[in-house]
Amino acid sequence: MPYIAYRDVAKTRKIKAKDTTIADNTCTFYCKTHGCNARMTLVNGADAERAYFRRIPSGAQHISVFCSADGSFDPTNYEEKKFDFNALFANLKNASSESNRPSKTTGIAVTGGGGKKAISTVQQIYLMCRKYELYNGYCTDDILADERNFAKNEGGIVGRKIVQCTPYHKFKDEFSYRMNYPSFPYPNGKHIKLNFATEELFWHFYKKFKSTNHKELVIVLGEWTIPTEVNNTYMSECTVYKKRQVHFLKFDGGNNGK
Ligand SMILES: [Zn+2]
Repeated sequence: MPYIAYRDVAKTRKIKAKDTTIADNTCTFYCKTHGCNARMTLVNGADAERAYFRRIPSGAQHISVFCSADGSFDPTNYEEKKFDFNALFANLKNASSESNRPSKTTGIAVTGGGGKKAISTVQQIYLMCRKYELYNGYCTDDILADERNFAKNEGGIVGRKIVQCTPYHKFKDEFSYRMNYPSFPYPNGKHIKLNFATEELFWHFYKKFKSTNHKELVIVLGEWTIPTEVNNTYMSECTVYKKRQVHFLKFDGGNNGK
């Protein structure tokens, strides 16, 4: 469910879903991806928070996972003011407790049964970042490394981020996996390395990675560093401690209303 499309088949007039009007609800739009013939309609036009584009089912399918990678994020399900990336990061990476607890740093408490939840999963962070440039004061460009900010990240990914990638292969004699950032194939794409806290965790993901195709995106939350050794063949690495640090984003050509 992309948030950007073109008004014309030649793909010269780009339009954001949030900038549409009621009159646009009856228009046909064209997929944002170069070379993709999918045509789109607008859903919830003139509603800046909830508007998005949807593929016309009888027409061409999307050609790339990037066509629909925006997914669907309904902001009315979450309390933006409760989003605290650092607290959430610590929660997802370390604790084994529930992840929906209110943030200590923002001081906003959830009363019993009342109030909306904060974003609490890697998938939700990803979808939020695909939709917003700014969310509760956070610049999402600093949180998510994907194909849209490749130029900024191709020299190395550093710090607490979620990174969009696809599996490549196991590192020889190591319990670690080489990934393509931001996907495969991608012009001048880079390699990154996933380390795993335990052998068991490695094999869990090894099996999953082996069964993916290149159209399935993997989203990894981690503390990313640039390797210190020279001549490394990957630009950044992180360690996975918990299964919930990794999310798989399926691609079905837009058959699922995306
Ligand atoms: Zn498309």
